[in-house]
Amino acid sequence: MELTFLGTAGPRGWPQPFCICASCLGCTGSAVREPSCVLVDGTLLIDCGPEPAHAAARASRPLTGVRHLLLTGPAEAAPLAWLPAAGLELVAAPSGPPAGLPAPTAGGPPWQTVEPGAEFAVGAHRVRVLPGGSPGRVAYAVTGPGGSRLLYIPSSRLAPEADTARSWADGRPYDAVLLDVVAWPERLAALRREGAVTEETDVLAVHLSHEAPPGEELTRRLAAWGARAVADGGVVRLGSDPDPQPVRPHRTLVLGGARSGKSVEAERRLAAVPDVLYVATGGTRDRDPEWAERVAAHRDRRPATWSTAETTDLASLVTTATVPLLVDCLSLWLTAVMDECNAWDDDAWQASAREAVRKRVDELAAAWRGCRVPLVAVSNEVGSGVVPATASGRRYRDELGRLNAAVAEESDEVLLVVAGQALTLRGLPRKPRHARN
Ligand SMILES: [Zn+2]
Repeated sequence: MELTFLGTAGPRGWPQPFCICASCLGCTGSAVREPSCVLVDGTLLIDCGPEPAHAAARASRPLTGVRHLLLTGPAEAAPLAWLPAAGLELVAAPSGPPAGLPAPTAGGPPWQTVEPGAEFAVGAHRVRVLPGGSPGRVAYAVTGPGGSRLLYIPSSRLAPEADTARSWADGRPYDAVLLDVVAWPERLAALRREGAVTEETDVLAVHLSHEAPPGEELTRRLAAWGARAVADGGVVRLGSDPDPQPVRPHRTLVLGGARSGKSVEAERRLAAVPDVLYVATGGTRDRDPEWAERVAAHRDRRPATWSTAETTDLASLVTTATVPLLVDCLSLWLTAVMDECNAWDDDAWQASAREAVRKRVDELAAAWRGCRVPLVAVSNEVGSGVVPATASGRRYRDELGRLNAAVAEESDEVLLVVAGQALTLRGLPRKPRHARN
């Protein structure tokens, strides 16, 4: 099955017309994206923008062979002035033709209103209509003549209905899934949980718009989710593409100052993973309402399917983990370890605590190196500001610096979050495979 991406943006494109937001102003040249529109094997069009023919001509895939159009939303949402001239055999949509379009009897295309559950053949392809995840929308599962399977999920900007991943899955993984992964990475997590998306599935971002970060950060964020975006005009051949999937970082360390957005970034990095073990390393702090409030805020942000562990024996947990881990955070872990080793006391520090703390850090770094599950850890970046007034404060600052360096050394991706912006210190961007024309 050959997919030509004539458009990969949301309904208004990216940049949105006349929008002066930072994302739109930064979206120029080859980054410009038309509304999502995918040409399948040169004969079947899924969704469309106002000028699919021009986009197709630019991609050297003229639309002259197209006989069928599948619309995922109300026809009013798609500018269809070009439609009567296209000579289609069928337009399938969850609603009827919009006013102003000629009826089939007057030269307009034959229109078929579809509902979830419908199944029909269009040329050599079989189409199954699935719930769209939002009111008035449908998704399409398309099986090609060679057996390749594609799932196209509509734009998710509307309020999502209850979890529809179960109805998208049918016991077999798809070869490609096209969805609004930036808006709803949790849907990708649900598809993984249902077995509809596996490591073999090519996850392609569509419906992109100015909510997405511009430039390389989009590539990095998608890669963390096991997804990628192709540029408009890109061609993807399912089942015969020799390029590897985007390499997902295995161990990510997210550094940042207080309230920098580092925890949000760490959680976002794992948002497309179905089952994550959140590791709280700070232990419980009785009679500290501010601390309780922070813990509750973290808990509210996390998906309900994530589980939680509270431990300071981090090395053992990292070694034995069987599901992806989110460790938040290493600086609290160090505090707890220094408590356990009596490391705040100057005499104890000199006598034996220094050695004990550093042994724990070495054990953790070794566990990091051998970790077999995806792992994202948060830590505080300190030491650039005011020198702590006390010896124990300076000791903590120094040991945290050593800990961060040791863990970063064993991580394949290291991010520094400043004012909510993730800077890559190590690792990605690795260029994901790019579609070939
Ligand atoms: Zn904008």
